[in-house]
Amino acid sequence: MTAIHILKDRENQIHETGKAPFNMACDKHSLSGSVSQRACVFCGSRVVLYPIADAVHLVHGPIGCAAYTWDIRGALSSGPELHRLSFSTDLREKDVIFGGEEKLYRTLTALIDTYSPKAAFVYSTCIVGIIGDDVEAVLRRVQKEKNIPVLAVHSEGFKGTKKDGYRAACEALFKLIGKGDASAVGKYAINILGEFNIGGEAWIIKNYYRKMGIDVVSVMTGDGRVEEVMKSHGAKLNVVQCSGSMTHLAKMMEEKYGIPYIRVSYFGIEDMSKALYDVAEFFSDNSHILEKTKTMVKEEVEAVYPELLSIRKALSGKKGAIYVGGAFKAFSLIKALKMIGMDVVLVGSQTGSEEDYAILKDMCDDGTVIVDDANPLELSKYIIEKKADLFIGGVKERPIAYKMGIGFCDHNHERKTPLAGYEGMLNFAREVYYTVTSPVWQFAPRNVVN
Ligand code: SF4
Repeated sequence: MTAIHILKDRENQIHETGKAPFNMACDKHSLSGSVSQRACVFCGSRVVLYPIADAVHLVHGPIGCAAYTWDIRGALSSGPELHRLSFSTDLREKDVIFGGEEKLYRTLTALIDTYSPKAAFVYSTCIVGIIGDDVEAVLRRVQKEKNIPVLAVHSEGFKGTKKDGYRAACEALFKLIGKGDASAVGKYAINILGEFNIGGEAWIIKNYYRKMGIDVVSVMTGDGRVEEVMKSHGAKLNVVQCSGSMTHLAKMMEEKYGIPYIRVSYFGIEDMSKALYDVAEFFSDNSHILEKTKTMVKEEVEAVYPELLSIRKALSGKKGAIYVGGAFKAFSLIKALKMIGMDVVLVGSQTGSEEDYAILKDMCDDGTVIVDDANPLELSKYIIEKKADLFIGGVKERPIAYKMGIGFCDHNHERKTPLAGYEGMLNFAREVYYTVTSPVWQFAPRNVVN
């Protein structure tokens, strides 16, 4: 294989640590023709709101938008599973010419009559933005007739980046918050924001907090329920895990309800422990919480540490590449890979900010490539050049890894295995170990650059 060249206009979104001065461009629209790995605005909204399991999620647009995001996350529910269905108004040529408002009204009312949801989210897609349907007017009418919250998600795919989709989802959620009765919410109560219960992770995290003596009012949105979101303004602290998607909501709640927020990560031993201690510290008026936290962390770490050490021995010196949605997850993954003895040679994200990339630069060893809003060619180039043994990403990165003949770990929303918390760290380490050391790679020789 000959050397892979990157597009000239993409050069300022790629940086190799230790080389030229750090001046990363980010937070901008994807370059036309670059075939970005990034998802659209609508997809950004859909992944945030998807796990609310007792709401109808109606995609107002052509069937392709709904198919693209059908059952998009491995987000589990302990009760209803309405979120796993993909409803669409299936707009066609005639609707594009004459408007889709009537079709939206008919579809939405039929869905509410059939499923009796606690709320309905209606996502606007590209074509709706182009033909100019008055979605809000239709939703006001339906809300009045059906007497449930009916919320517009303004997520026309073309109008920005995936981050704008997160923002639209936060704004829809914010309209629900405050509508419920929070009088029974206790003194030591939190909301978990940006945790989506992939493979049951929210249940693991909630269990830790329960052991500490902390109540979780609402998880947004993993195993989410409309009524819990509606009373979430009663919590005393918002704990934000996926900061890229939920910081906007945390800021709005701070402004309106005076609820402070902290940023945490539940991936890796170090960050998981810090997340628990940070919450314990917030409720420092109750020393029992800190005591319980110390005991629990000690027990949890002792349970997984011996196996992590033996995996570390086997993986020592192997090289990992990371490409994820939000940069905050990348921070934890770097620490987690280092803990199991691996070096990070490539790290990138779809939606990182200037501040995120500065932190990444400080965390990485010299020679690590940092990339914003990458495309498959760039990822392939650096995987080959840096001789990575492992690629961590999502569904769109998996084929790249396999074509390059290296191991892959899904750390995105499609997976079914929990990777958060202490047991999640062990699952992660095992998965990395199995894929990196798999004998299958002898039959898939690695690509090399001449
Ligand atoms: S909203 Fe637009 S960009 Fe997103 S899937 Fe639909 S058509 Fe594609």
